[in-house]
This record gives sequence, C-alpha cells and structure tokens, in this order.
Amino acid sequence: MPHTMQVMALHAPGEPLRPAQRPVPTPGPGELRLRVSACAVCRTDLHVVDGDLALPRLPIVPGHEIVGVVEALGAGVDPAWLGRRAGVPWLGHTCGHCRACLGGRENLCEAPVFTGLGRDGGFATHVLAEADFCIALDEPAALALDDLHAAPLLCAGLIGWRTLRMAGDPVTEAATVGLYGFGAAAHLVAQVARHRGQRVLAFTRPGDTAAQAHARSLGAVWAGGSDEAAPEPLDAALIFAPVGALVPTALAAVRPGGRVVCGGIHMSDIPAFAYRLLWQERQLLSVANLTRADATEFLAIVRDMAHTTPLRVDVTPYPLARANDALADLRAGRLQGAAVLVPAGA
Ligand SMILES: [Zn+2]
Ligand SMILES: [Zn+2]
Repeated sequence: MPHTMQVMALHAPGEPLRPAQRPVPTPGPGELRLRVSACAVCRTDLHVVDGDLALPRLPIVPGHEIVGVVEALGAGVDPAWLGRRAGVPWLGHTCGHCRACLGGRENLCEAPVFTGLGRDGGFATHVLAEADFCIALDEPAALALDDLHAAPLLCAGLIGWRTLRMAGDPVTEAATVGLYGFGAAAHLVAQVARHRGQRVLAFTRPGDTAAQAHARSLGAVWAGGSDEAAPEPLDAALIFAPVGALVPTALAAVRPGGRVVCGGIHMSDIPAFAYRLLWQERQLLSVANLTRADATEFLAIVRDMAHTTPLRVDVTPYPLARANDALADLRAGRLQGAAVLVPAGA
C-alpha cells in the first residue's frame, strides 16, 4: 500500500484547488478509510470553493459524492465493512442528541459535520469517513451502476430525491413537475419522476438547447428556457439552479395549492414579488442536506428501476489532477449530467 495520497485542496476561497501529497491517514475510532475510485463534483463544491458557504477549516479537500472500497478500519467499526464498496455522502456526522437528531430530522442537526466542508472529502485518492454515515453500495449488479456512474447518486441523486419527495404525492399532489435547472440532480430526478408516473417539464438557462435536448432524451414532455412561459400549469416546481429570480417565476407557473421546492444549498437573493404569486395556498420550501433514511429509500428506487428502465447516469470523467477544469466546466454549464473525478489508476 502506498504511504502517500494525492489530494486537491482549497487553501483560500476563490483560489484554484492545489495538488498535494499527504501521508495516507489512519482511521480513528468509528472511522474507516476508503480508496477512492470516483468522486462526483456537485454545485455545492463550487459554493465551497467560492466561499459562498462559511468555511470552518482551511485547507479543505472538497468532494462529497464519493465511491470507493473500504481498505482500513478504526477501532469499534464492524469488520464486515472491510473490502466492501461504499459511498460517502454530504452528511458526515451528526451529534445524535439535539432536538433535530432525536426527532428523526438529522439533516437539520445543530452540530453536523459535512463531508468536503467540515472534514476532508473525496477530491483525493483516499478519504476517511465515519462508518455510521457511509452507505453500503454492494451488489453493483443490483444497482446496475459501476463506481463512475454510482458517484453522482451520493448527492445529485439523494438531494434530488429529497426535493422530489417534498413536492408531494406523485398522483394526487405532484403529477406534473417542472424542473428549473437541468444539471446533475435534475437529470436523475427527471427519470425517477417518470418512473413514478409523473410528467416532467424542464426549464433550462435561456438558449441552452443542449440541456433542453438532454432533458427530452430523458423523458421530459417539454423543455425550454426558464424565460419561456410553462405550456401547462405545474403542480410543483423544483429549483436546482442557484438563481433566486427563479422563485417568483416558478411560483407563477404552479397551480393553486402547488409547491415550489428549492433544492440547492445557496441561491442568489430572491427578488421581491407580488403576494398573489404565493396566495391560494402555494407553498415555498427548501431542502437542507439529507438523512441516512433518504439514502436507503433512494437506493431502493434505483434498484427497482434496474428491473424496468434502469437509471441512466450521464457523466463526464476527469482525472483527479484536473479538478479545477471540472469545476470550471460545471460553472460554465459546459457539461450534461455530472462531472466525476477519477484518481489515476482507479
Ligand atoms: Zn444533532
Ligand atoms: Zn452536493
């Protein structure tokens, strides 16, 4: 086993990530170490790099959509983890005793630690994680996805699923769903929604015909720019683009009683809007983080889809050393689906 690992680390907000070699870390109590085989790049990583989120420590290794193989265990960790394929998501630790944790809403824990923000993440060849927050990804056949294609499930998929679920019942409340921003999360959500029998309409950056074609290829019944009027009233709208101006746009597109769910961790300011857009019991909600139960539920859906219409995960792989290019391409909207970093030799 090599004694050093490669990382791409952020030293100051706004700067490019810098490559570095570090000693391979030893897992502490309750932790395990993964040899990373793939780590998808999330918009939240851009918010970390830009300093849109408070950075509790620097330097930090971003990346919270990690798939790898467990190669070392700390004290107290179930030996059954050793050698297994596992995923590491955004939620890296919760306190277990605050009001949110005790109430089954660990995504709102008062003292959480997030992977790739409060602890080093997966833009690396190796990573430590708390075993209790890792997700077993055995049975690649059942999941029908290799590591490269499974990585985007860990945040784009999970947060996308939580956002879709919050839109309401697929038959009685959210039969027709508009997706605003058609990136990594939306391209997975569109397929899950179709699997549940929901109609999907996709709203992209104005003029982004590539994203519109991508949406149609994944079953959207309509795709157009977010500056275009919805061709039919929506029961619900999910906003994945970090653009606050889409909130009044989406509220105007949903029926009375409909929901607008914001799926991102950060958005530009929401402009003032007329109360009539919210009136008639429309609801405006946000999604924060995820719970371990979300992962169990979502992976069960992905496995179920494998029997009928397998989830198609569109990825653009980048060598780990090109993490800055992956971030730049994501920022510019130059890729369809998800960017995924792959360590050399993985
Ligand atoms: Zn807590
Ligand atoms: Zn994420």
